[in-house]
Amino acid sequence: MKRLLTLKFLLSYLVVWIILLLLLGTVTQQGVLQYTRNSEAKKLYREANALANEYKESFTSASISLPDMQNELRLISQYISTEIWVVDASGTLLMDSSNPVIYENSLEGITYPVEGFSISDFGDSYFRVGTFYDAFYTDHLTVFSPITVGYKVRGYILIHMPMVKIQETAQSISDFLFVASSMVFGCSLITLLTYFILVNRPVRRLTKAAKKYAKGEFTHRINFRSNDEFGYLANTMNFMATELDTLEEEQRKFISNVSHDFRSPLTSIKGYVEAMADGTIPPEAQEKYLNIILFETERLNKLTQSILDLNRIGKHGMLLDITDFDINDVIRTTIQTFEHICYKKELSFDLYLTGKELLVTADIGKVQQVLYNLIDNATKFSHNQSTITIETNVRNGKVFISVKDTGIGIPKDSIKRIWDRFYKTDLSRGKDKKGTGLGLAIVKEIIQAHNENINVVSTEGVGTEFIFTLPLSQKEDI
Ligand code: ATP
Ligand code: MG
Repeated sequence: MKRLLTLKFLLSYLVVWIILLLLLGTVTQQGVLQYTRNSEAKKLYREANALANEYKESFTSASISLPDMQNELRLISQYISTEIWVVDASGTLLMDSSNPVIYENSLEGITYPVEGFSISDFGDSYFRVGTFYDAFYTDHLTVFSPITVGYKVRGYILIHMPMVKIQETAQSISDFLFVASSMVFGCSLITLLTYFILVNRPVRRLTKAAKKYAKGEFTHRINFRSNDEFGYLANTMNFMATELDTLEEEQRKFISNVSHDFRSPLTSIKGYVEAMADGTIPPEAQEKYLNIILFETERLNKLTQSILDLNRIGKHGMLLDITDFDINDVIRTTIQTFEHICYKKELSFDLYLTGKELLVTADIGKVQQVLYNLIDNATKFSHNQSTITIETNVRNGKVFISVKDTGIGIPKDSIKRIWDRFYKTDLSRGKDKKGTGLGLAIVKEIIQAHNENINVVSTEGVGTEFIFTLPLSQKEDI
């Protein structure tokens, strides 16, 4: 398609050039010939005028002899490559620059009459083109100027120039025009070819790459070494392809994780239900297995809820319902939901909360979710009879909230990965079978949506502390 366009472009370029050549060969050549003839005629006319004046002088005052006059005419005619005649009013040739004979008696001596000569044949023009009453075999440009003595026309100066000479001059001008336009054509052709090399080729390569990306072939890379705009564009497209490739890889991983996490509880539920149905598990042992089924169902329910949460949050468009609320109060009410596990594991909470109430500006529902996930992790990964510390501090217009436990901790290599979806450390797997590995991913999304930060400090076997920030409300005058 693109190639076809290039071919069309080149073809039209050639056609334009051929038309230009034809014009140069016809219209332009004619024009140049006409121009050369007219300018030559003008020049000769000036010469004829000067000669007519001079001849008039010699005629009246005899300041110059006729032989001298003819000599002069001969010299001038040689100089300007013409033939100069002096004729009387009736057209009789009195003097001819090409003929050495001097005609005696000047205007009276009728020697060679030019047959049919009539000055009115010139009409309005001061020149004519032709054989001049068959005086020449070939076409000549003839220019005349009258010799006027005492208001009376006594004769004419006629200057004849062979048309061949004019045609030669015109031809050399045309040749020059042809060479000049050939050079222009050559230069523009070089420019055109440079354009194809510098612009067309990279554009074709970029288009090809874009088509591949559109088909999902994100591993394709454009190899461009130039530092110009095309190089920059190619780098940007390569970067885009890498990003899309990673995104696709992440999506694939996400789907395989989700399927895996759904499949294992479903397989165990199916197995136990089948065993109960066919009597492999006797009715008296069924309660234990029903509890396992209940546990797996709860896990599936939690998984579905977390995926839905993540999906709703999205990367760019979490809608926040921002209000001012007391974070201390939210912490107190959230820990109440953990009463049961605290009772079971004999855990206790130490709260170090700043102020009686501490107003922050955020989405209360989302902050509750963050606190719930962090306290849930702290209770899950704490040893029995330990203490979980929750603190609020104010610094530089921010409220710092810390949730700290003295549990199993997170191995150094895993710290970076705990925010990834479905990631669980090897240490925690045995302790918490129900966990989906989505809790912290949701926490991170929520904090980022608030344009705030969350950090973790943890030592394996010692404990873990999560600290996140929230904007302090304007209403606080601390
Ligand atoms: P879910 O939150 O869905 O119940 P989860 O708690 O396993 O599952 P996350 O909250 O995302 O998932 O945590 C990811 C992993 O990070 C956990 O599995 C655990 O290995 C580690 N982790 C998180 N908090 C702590 C903690 N306080 N102490 C030790 N390890 C932790
Ligand atoms: Mg969790």
